[in-house]
Amino acid sequence: MFYDDGYVTRSTVLDVAGTVHAFSTRLGGISTLPHTQSMNIAPGYGDSEEIIRKNTDLLAGFLGGFSVADTVCAHQIHSAKVRVIDSSNRGEGTVTDAGEDCDGYVTATRGVVPMVRTADCAPIILCAPREGSTPVVAVLHAGWRGTVADIAGEGVRKMMSFGVKTEDIRAAIGPHIGFCCFEVGEDLRDAVRSIRGADFARRHIRENGTLHADLTGMNLELLLEAGVLPEHMDASCECTFCLEEKYHSHRRGKGMRGTMGSLAAIL
Ligand SMILES: [Zn+2]
Repeated sequence: MFYDDGYVTRSTVLDVAGTVHAFSTRLGGISTLPHTQSMNIAPGYGDSEEIIRKNTDLLAGFLGGFSVADTVCAHQIHSAKVRVIDSSNRGEGTVTDAGEDCDGYVTATRGVVPMVRTADCAPIILCAPREGSTPVVAVLHAGWRGTVADIAGEGVRKMMSFGVKTEDIRAAIGPHIGFCCFEVGEDLRDAVRSIRGADFARRHIRENGTLHADLTGMNLELLLEAGVLPEHMDASCECTFCLEEKYHSHRRGKGMRGTMGSLAAIL
């Protein structure tokens, strides 16, 4: 179950001892431009580097005891590429695209804070305990391309490489554009068909006056296929496009928008 906690939203399913996480809203930052206010963590939309740095610092602070010096962010490429990171990556990519391009991170190291940027795409956070060792966390960025490339499954497999069991993995899909507002064209449906098959496309891209895509359903199915138990999954039912006061939305703003951050850490 998702619940609001101050300026961020969190899921009870990710309540694993020794881990913290947050999905940001557009609230709680210092950006003052109409389209980026107030929590915008991406450069390139009108806010100065100083504002981005301060917002990222505030957001990391919502995890308790973390700062912008701990966060790791990279240029996202709508792929299924998930990088393993550790404390040597701390501080990468806040205002410049440092590090390797990717769409997700896995870490088993304390103190480093992987973060993805979204404004309609789905942020996914996973965590799992390990017997006799630190927990493992993963943070993923899943737009439709990354989703059908199975970044969710890739995140699960990368966690398993740390000795995590699938039945111990918890997964929460944060706020993203809902089926209500994610109108798509036949070209997108055809691309999904060719990558994941006609049945997958039929289940998740349906007529609602026009064609609409269901990012929630796609990612839940792929998490299930990767072995995550249904009772260990959660998805926010809030649509970033519908809720203008609470979330940034790329589609609603036609590109003029701020960007939210989703992040996790091991304590
Ligand atoms: Zn909507």
